[in-house]
Amino acid sequence: MSEKLEQSWNKPFKIESSIDSLRNTKDPIIIYALTDEAEAIANACKEKGIQITAFCDNEIRKTKKLYWGLEVIFTPNLPKKFTRAKFIIAHQSLDDCAEQLTDFGYYDFYSPLNLLKDYEVENYSYLTSESYMKNKINNIIKINELYFDKSKTYVRSVDVVITTKCSMNCESCANLMQYYVNAKNTDEAVLEAVKNLSENVDHVSEYRVIGGEPLMNKKWAEITNGIIEQDPSRTVYVYTNATICPKEDQLKSFNGKNIHFFITDYDELSKNISKTVDALERNNVPYKIRPAGNWVDCSRIRKHNRSTERLKQVFKECCAKELFTLISGKFFTCPFIANAAELKAIPDNKADYVDLLSDEPNMRQKLTRLINKETFFPACDFCDGRPHAPESAKEYAGRGLIKAAKQIPTNTRLPFEQNK
Ligand code: SF4
Ligand code: SF4
Repeated sequence: MSEKLEQSWNKPFKIESSIDSLRNTKDPIIIYALTDEAEAIANACKEKGIQITAFCDNEIRKTKKLYWGLEVIFTPNLPKKFTRAKFIIAHQSLDDCAEQLTDFGYYDFYSPLNLLKDYEVENYSYLTSESYMKNKINNIIKINELYFDKSKTYVRSVDVVITTKCSMNCESCANLMQYYVNAKNTDEAVLEAVKNLSENVDHVSEYRVIGGEPLMNKKWAEITNGIIEQDPSRTVYVYTNATICPKEDQLKSFNGKNIHFFITDYDELSKNISKTVDALERNNVPYKIRPAGNWVDCSRIRKHNRSTERLKQVFKECCAKELFTLISGKFFTCPFIANAAELKAIPDNKADYVDLLSDEPNMRQKLTRLINKETFFPACDFCDGRPHAPESAKEYAGRGLIKAAKQIPTNTRLPFEQNK
């Protein structure tokens, strides 16, 4: 008998923890979305006699070929195929996924918790390495346990920005690097901020060391080690564009620690990708490579003067609202607000962030409020929006899908308006 857990708060939808009803249903069963964990969830379903019909994903490029031998449906196209369906949510943002699917007229959502609890990772091979998958499975189990625990506040990942310098110069960088005239390292008191964050929430699944390009900060390895030394049970990822090869002694210092590399492959722009991979393999540092693919254009900073209803819609459709970001000691819920604030391109509004270095009381309550916020932030009015599926979004002012990493000449900075 599966363990039945309560969903953590009142939502217009319900995510079931029990998977019993999936065994004998006549409804199609779909795994949402093609996360790394999706193939493990599919294996676990097979073991438990649950027949999966298809996968779905918001990225159209992922729907071009079979996955795990099954069709991958572009999520906005689901209603054309199925009037009813049951969904197992393989993504860490359970509410976000359920909310999007509710808009398409679906109501049956399931957590993969009871599928994965007794899943043996080593019984299968995967598209990623076994150690990478083990880590992902442990994380998703923890996230799902916390999801059903009303008393807990958790962060599925936090992007720790250690520099706004980048070795590439992407015109439409979603992290707004193209606007920084005086790009610099942003690591002052970064470890103190990380410590204060971790002491005031119940769980952070992943710390992601990012930039810009984090390896532009000469102290990147020291900071990465510093994050994990605060608590060796943490999981840390270094996100790189593979233009700079990490040094041997830096990688050696990660030995035996839960530190991974996440490489975005920008083809010929990622000029040191082979050297980086060789060095990681030589030093047993787990890594994953993901092609850059297409981006959703979302990097312009401009005031929209939207009504409250329109702001609610832009936030509802946003796929980045849980991309928690720590920069210069402040904790934000998305990279747009974090960097627009760092650039001083938007008015300073305390409703947009929590200052992790302030000695104001009630930091835990402030973080809980920010993390669990269900409606928009003041800064959302300066953002074009970042919808899961731009073609069907109701409130989006960007250009839709664009080619990733179009470069502008080195040292060119894009102008932006400073909104007071
Ligand atoms: S590589 Fe491009 S997208 Fe990535 S941080 Fe640098 S400028 Fe931004
Ligand atoms: S500013 Fe608002 S709408 Fe834009 S990415 Fe952040 S949370 Fe989403």
